[in-house]
Amino acid sequence: MLGGALLAMGGCAHGGAVAGASESARSIALPRTRAERTGYAVSSTYEDVIAFIDSLQARRVPFARQELGRTNEGRIQPLLVLSRPQVTTPEQARALNRPIVYVQANIHAGEVEGKEALLALVRDLASTTTNVLDSIVLIAIPIYNADGNERWQPQSVNRTEQNGPERVGQRPNAQMLDLNRDYVKAEAPETRASLAAFEKWNPDVFVDLHTTDGSFHGYALTYSPSLSPAALESGAYTRDSLLPELRRRMRARDGFEVFDYGNFDTQYEERDITATTKSGWYTYDHRPRFGTNYFGLRQRISILSEAYSHDPFERRVKSTYAFVHEILSLVAERGARIRALEASADSRFGHGDFTTPIPIESRLVSTPLQLPVTFEVMAHTGDSSLTQPGVPRGFRRTGEMKTQTMPVYDRFEPTLSRTIPRAWLLPAGDTAAIALLRLHGILVERPVAGMTSSRISRFVVDSFSRQPKEFQGHHETRLSGSWRDSTAPIVGDMVMVRGDQAQAVAALYLLDPESDDGLVTWNVFDAELAPGKPFPVWRVTGASP
Ligand SMILES: [Zn+2]
Repeated sequence: MLGGALLAMGGCAHGGAVAGASESARSIALPRTRAERTGYAVSSTYEDVIAFIDSLQARRVPFARQELGRTNEGRIQPLLVLSRPQVTTPEQARALNRPIVYVQANIHAGEVEGKEALLALVRDLASTTTNVLDSIVLIAIPIYNADGNERWQPQSVNRTEQNGPERVGQRPNAQMLDLNRDYVKAEAPETRASLAAFEKWNPDVFVDLHTTDGSFHGYALTYSPSLSPAALESGAYTRDSLLPELRRRMRARDGFEVFDYGNFDTQYEERDITATTKSGWYTYDHRPRFGTNYFGLRQRISILSEAYSHDPFERRVKSTYAFVHEILSLVAERGARIRALEASADSRFGHGDFTTPIPIESRLVSTPLQLPVTFEVMAHTGDSSLTQPGVPRGFRRTGEMKTQTMPVYDRFEPTLSRTIPRAWLLPAGDTAAIALLRLHGILVERPVAGMTSSRISRFVVDSFSRQPKEFQGHHETRLSGSWRDSTAPIVGDMVMVRGDQAQAVAALYLLDPESDDGLVTWNVFDAELAPGKPFPVWRVTGASP
């Protein structure tokens, strides 16, 4: 069922909705999302999302409708391409010479507002004229984890720390994989489709839409750049330039206070939520298993968006809508700068940077900034009553906000770095590793003639440790050992990964035996590991291959 006579603009009180040249007769007939139609009581099913897109198309709203891929259960993941002039292929998009912004919603299907905000934004941008679509190409993935979306459960089951709506999807996909821990190992079809789309469209900016996990802070939305210290330039530019400007604009133009993502504890959940002084504000993780961190290894800009889980659903949709809209506007304004930054990284690694130390293992920063952070004072109810969905039983919100200057752990520092070698060599029989490298856009080729005379460095394994606790179906593995120059002749059938290629940083992170989130971590090389034995991936250190 469609929205009937009501306006499509979503009625954002803060003025964040896209104002077109005119709210024409056409816009009056535009569809509304399930959330809009139900007064933000209900979130869209997969069928609702498809019907909404069908309805936009039936009304000749201009955008290209494609498939990102298919989920584990065979659902089509819609991919919508929006720009003026309209384009349908990556070649046409590149020919426009503007930033390509890739926005993904619903990776955690219980975190439902990204899906609603992105659908509304697609409608509002595509159906009006003179807006950011004249300056960027938008690729929208409104329902990435479509299978998880359809596993409806009460919010109290699927999203215990969230203030509605009453029923939401589940966090993992149908295989019970957390798709935001899958960006290195790429075991889910959804992730493989995502990586293929990154390769195909080569987006300049990746935005991933989420909801926070619990801390009672004072912000409508929190955000993060790629936290990987291997996001050499894009990470700092996003953190120090783009995000502070987005923060100013969200306050001034949209009426939302936003801040860097974090929690009042390193463990995501606070031990004492009623504490009226906080020890610090801690971000999450730097490893590339997380999509926005991974995207930084590609030397591109990424932004994690986390709507505040204790805000009502409607406000979460509106803050997310405003944030994505502000990102698109800012990227449109800074298109030339962003593209130059990324072209420079591509050129640097494409031509070979064999001297810069690239972080492959990191820890939370040891000397944090001291910054004011706002939190809500929480109180005991004295019983076990539930005061608001998402608030733990026995606690209540007081509405009293406090701002305290505290250590803000918003970044990571390297503990181990390695340079990119001239090339890596690995056994041609390591087909799983080779397939993964290719999926990550890394070129794998046959060794060139003359390679036998190259200088080789091999990592001899002393020991390996496995996490006893299974995580995502794996026992994560770390190796210790040492690199030794080798004069051993290259024997056997090997393939080569050149160090002078655009994805060389990602290649290093995936292939290095000491990386904290590489192929070793996810057991890809398990069969070839033994103490005293060389690691199967060798570094070619001298004599350009
Ligand atoms: Zn999430």
